[in-house]
Amino acid sequence: MKIGVLAIQGDVSEHVEAVKRGLEHFDVQGNVFYVRKKEQISQLDYLIIPGGESTTISRLMVKSGIYDEVLKQAEKKELGVIGTCAGSILMAKDVIDDNRVKTLGLMDMAVRRNFFGRQRESFETELDIEGVGKYYAVFIRAPVIDKCWGKCKPLAYIGDKIAMAREGNFFALIFHPELTEDYRIYKLFLNL
Ligand code: GLN
Repeated sequence: MKIGVLAIQGDVSEHVEAVKRGLEHFDVQGNVFYVRKKEQISQLDYLIIPGGESTTISRLMVKSGIYDEVLKQAEKKELGVIGTCAGSILMAKDVIDDNRVKTLGLMDMAVRRNFFGRQRESFETELDIEGVGKYYAVFIRAPVIDKCWGKCKPLAYIGDKIAMAREGNFFALIFHPELTEDYRIYKLFLNL
């Protein structure tokens, strides 16, 4: 299994290390790559888009050609894509009240950036994730998934909003799994 972490900006090395530990934890053979070039995309089974600054990540994805290549491989259903925090914004069809991010639009969902605002810039809370169970999640200037439609299904809620969603081989998480030593979530989205 080949897993890439988009290494443009943000929480990159944390994801690489967490995926490696997750594979070890479940005794699954696999390689984890830092992805910086569009040529790498077609070699991957999964691409993780990390947290960071969604405006910067999207701008540099487009500029490097990675944006078009991800769409091409994802549409062929040959690439699973997992967006966490800023990455979840990139997965969405719509960003409410904000047109600064050119999203991939792989998932039928609408997100709001920086939903939790200044008062709660970062926090931790327990979620109940379908297919995982109780899960302690870390949020940093997190967006929220406002709604899902079509084949996009919520997997976890935070209040009356959505914290995690799935559409086939595509996942969006508004929190940071790489900061938690709980690998069950990797089992779910990397189908280990
Ligand atoms: N606030 C960031 C954005 O809108 C996301 C924050 C994060 O990824 N930790 O892009």
